[in-house]
Amino acid sequence: MSVIAALRHLQRVDSQVRALSTRLDGAADALAAREREVTTANAKLAEAESIHRQLMASAKNLEAESGSFKVRIESLRVELNATSKKSQYDIILGEMGTLQEKRDELDGQALEFMTKADAQQARITDATTHRDERVRRRDAARTEHDQRQADIADRLAELRREREEAAIQVPAKELALFNSIADEHEGEAMAEVIELSARHREYTCGACNIELPPRAYAALMGNNDTIICCPSCRRILHLAFAEKAD
Ligand SMILES: [Zn+2]
Repeated sequence: MSVIAALRHLQRVDSQVRALSTRLDGAADALAAREREVTTANAKLAEAESIHRQLMASAKNLEAESGSFKVRIESLRVELNATSKKSQYDIILGEMGTLQEKRDELDGQALEFMTKADAQQARITDATTHRDERVRRRDAARTEHDQRQADIADRLAELRREREEAAIQVPAKELALFNSIADEHEGEAMAEVIELSARHREYTCGACNIELPPRAYAALMGNNDTIICCPSCRRILHLAFAEKAD
C-alpha cells in the first residue's frame, strides 16, 4: 500500500472514531451540565432551609424569654394576693403591669418571626419542587448517557483497534504529521486537489479552497505518493485518482 493510500485509510477510520467519540462527549457534557444544575438547586434549597432555621430559633428564643416573664408575673400575683397593705399592693401591681408590657412586646416580636418563618417555608417548598425537577432531568440525562455509551462502546473499541492497525501502515514521520494536522482540523487531515482548469494549470485545496502553486500539483502528478501539504491549511494533499490506483 502506498503511503497516501495508508494515510487515506487512516483518515477514514480516524473520522469514524472521532464522530463516535463526539456523540459520547455530547452526552457526557449534557450530563455534566445537568449535574451542575442539581448542585445549584441543592445549594438554594439549603440556603432557604438555613434561613428558616434562623427565623424559628429567633422566635423560640423570644418565646422562652416571654415564658420567664410569665413565671415572674405569676409569682408576683401570689405575692399580690397575700398582701394586705394598699401601698405594697400598688407597687406589686405596677411591677406586674410593666412586666406584662415587656411580655407583650416579646410575644409580638416572636409572632413576627413566626410569620416570616411561614413565608420562608413556602420558599422551601418551591425550592424543593425546583430541585426535584432538576434531579429528574439529571437522571434522564444519565440514562441517555449510559444508553448511548452501551450502544457505541463495542463499536468504538472495534474502531479504535482498526485505527491502531491503520496507523501501523503509515511510516512514523508521516503518522506524526497526520496526527498533528488531524488534531488541528478535528480529524480532517487530508484534502483532495481540485482541478479548476487543467489548461490554465489552476488547482485548489479541496478543504480550504486556496489556489495551489502549480509545482505542488506537478509534484503529485510526478509521484502521487509524495507528501505535499496545503500551504494554507496544512492538510496533506492527494489526487482524486490516487485512490483508484491503489
Ligand atoms: Zn488547504
